[in-house]
Amino acid sequence: MTEKTDIKSMNLDELTSYVTKNGEKSFRAKQMYEWMHQKLSESVDEMTNLPAGFRAKLQQECSCIALRQADVQISKKDGTRKYLFLLEDGNVIESVFMRYKFGNSVCISSQAGCAMGCRFCASAIGGLKRNLRPSEMLEQVYRIQRDVGERISHVVVMGTGEPLDNYENLLKFIEILTDANGLHIGQRNVTVSTCGIVPNMRRLANEKLQITLALSLHAFTQEKREYLMPIASRYDLQDVLDACSFYFEKTGRRVTFEYALAKGVNDSNEDADGLAKLLSGRNCHVNLIPINPVKEREFKESGQPAVLAFQNKLVKNGINATVRRELGRDIDAACGQLRKKYMDTQE
Ligand code: SAH
Repeated sequence: MTEKTDIKSMNLDELTSYVTKNGEKSFRAKQMYEWMHQKLSESVDEMTNLPAGFRAKLQQECSCIALRQADVQISKKDGTRKYLFLLEDGNVIESVFMRYKFGNSVCISSQAGCAMGCRFCASAIGGLKRNLRPSEMLEQVYRIQRDVGERISHVVVMGTGEPLDNYENLLKFIEILTDANGLHIGQRNVTVSTCGIVPNMRRLANEKLQITLALSLHAFTQEKREYLMPIASRYDLQDVLDACSFYFEKTGRRVTFEYALAKGVNDSNEDADGLAKLLSGRNCHVNLIPINPVKEREFKESGQPAVLAFQNKLVKNGINATVRRELGRDIDAACGQLRKKYMDTQE
């Protein structure tokens, strides 16, 4: 069987050459693009202004253009929604919808599973299945916007997977997501989180995008970082920080450092001092995340007093630090938890 064409992963230029190769007028591409990326169509049937014959051909030759929603959990506390989507090949991915004062945000997955192996993360448990295509990343935003019925203004690539290990697809996803002919989400409202894939952080810095880069730091020494995040053994901490400085120099965008606090692991006074020293003089922002305990992992969350003491210490040392609001705690909202639960029931 020949591979089906993934028209939803094409930018307007690519779609135009696909359409003209199929003997149709080029304006048809604009119409299709609008159906997919502005009206957020679920099927080719909805594209009623296309000739019926061409529509039938698209049905046959193109891969399905919408993700199937397998489950949704809605937090009674704060309205956070956690979605489980089924891919055409049977893999499942999860995405989260959150409401903030500044707008609605969706956290998307960039891979089915993850190869990075972070010790505190549920996504690492089953390993990597595969990269997501641009269409599969876009669809998480599209299906959620349609389901909630409100505009999504912010997108964070902080769900399952390492986005910088799926580089080309990530870039195409950002291009289409921020395109004026699509949802037109501002580049500044898009955040990509990485565990620190140095060569691709540098590559991203050179793309001249205005997106925010977030680095999962989680420890102030190379040793402790390697213990928490096995991938850290591939890149020296200093090289990772240099890549962050390079990103700031090239884009003018302040890098966010994510630091998940685990009780008795990385939340001591010494850790806070070490972190403040490591980051001193940088134009950056630290986002403290009380670790979300995962059943299969041994880590416990630091209590609120420890989190606040850690934050105070950073702030006193001139480091801009905030504590992430804990949304959706009642619905398995930690990375990979819902997906893990679903996969357990399939075995
Ligand atoms: N691979 C990327 C993006 C996915 S993880 C990265 O590593 O940045 C998104 C963020 O959630 C990362 O900072 C990750 O370390 C953090 N995270 C994963 N599991 C967590 C947990 N149980 N509690 C708190 N944060 C967690």
